[in-house]
Amino acid sequence: MTGLLATRVRRELLVERLDVAACTIPTDAPESDGTIEWDSTTIVIVEARGGGETGVGYTYAHVSAAALVDEVLAPLVAGLDATAVPRAWETMVAAVRNIGRPGIASTAISAVDSALWDLKARLLGVPLVTLLGAVRESVELYGSGGFTSYSDEQLERQLGGWADDGFRRMKMKIGREPGLDAGRVAAARSAIGTAALMVDANGALDRKQALALAERFAELDVVWFEEPVSSDDLAGLRLLRDRAPGGMEIAAGEYGYDLPYFRRMLEAGAVDVLQADATRCAGITGFLGAGALCEAYGIPLSAHTSPALHLHPCCAIGPLRDLEYFHDHARIERMLFDGVAEPVAGALTPDLGRPGNGLELKRADAALYAA
Ligand SMILES: [Mg+2]
Repeated sequence: MTGLLATRVRRELLVERLDVAACTIPTDAPESDGTIEWDSTTIVIVEARGGGETGVGYTYAHVSAAALVDEVLAPLVAGLDATAVPRAWETMVAAVRNIGRPGIASTAISAVDSALWDLKARLLGVPLVTLLGAVRESVELYGSGGFTSYSDEQLERQLGGWADDGFRRMKMKIGREPGLDAGRVAAARSAIGTAALMVDANGALDRKQALALAERFAELDVVWFEEPVSSDDLAGLRLLRDRAPGGMEIAAGEYGYDLPYFRRMLEAGAVDVLQADATRCAGITGFLGAGALCEAYGIPLSAHTSPALHLHPCCAIGPLRDLEYFHDHARIERMLFDGVAEPVAGALTPDLGRPGNGLELKRADAALYAA
């Protein structure tokens, strides 16, 4: 009987199937940073079904990630034990060897992995943070936007608005026209008072440009310089880290699709703060691994964008510094999901009254933006 019972329970906890959808949502204004411009954002949403529950995960990626989920990953994951998420993760990672693990394949795995963690939490009837194991009750946010396409008035209104809402840190884009950046940063500084100001060049600058701007920014109390040079230039990041004025941290890592990428960045001593993105680095499983690497290297971790998806895992990672409240993603998550936590005094707190990640897809709204 015990064996039969065990078999019956296990059958109820299988992943029955994955469904995937992609939505492309126009931005609310033209947006650009130091190296690209965009007017829409695509989100690829995966729903993992099993045991009468549905877990939801997503990635911000090209629509081709949806095809990869549908054609390659979904058939592999269907029928696997819904409680054995790391086994599903290993199965997916092994299967994309010849497709190319970094890039699109890793974003597709990310969406599935996050949906599977959510499904497991819902099957167990607990919030995702409870399944992962909480180390904190809430996570500090920083407001993030300040696009190079914004006028000074738009920039001041956005960053000043976050300051009024109790955010203590905010980040703006720089590097499109480096000659204008000191003026733009000064405008932002005047709009946010004593709050901490961060800048992100998205790899637009060369080493000497970045060093010169770091000195100008220090006069405006900039505390964080993200991707001052290309993230592929680890020696350049290290140079900036060693030579930037005291009190200015160097950060990078958003293009990390696997743990060896983060290890190389940390080994090179390239960053004061490592960034990682669970919608790119193979999901919550990969993101937890990035947290473990940060712990080993004694470097804080900062979550890159996608606040609703990162909230629960961020509360379960010891070396976590903060979570990026990215304008585009905060807007899209509110449009497409019920249950999105709202910032209070610049922090997000998981709703422990909701199972899983707490998110419910608003199907009718999502259908309006089907890609
Ligand atoms: Mg960035």
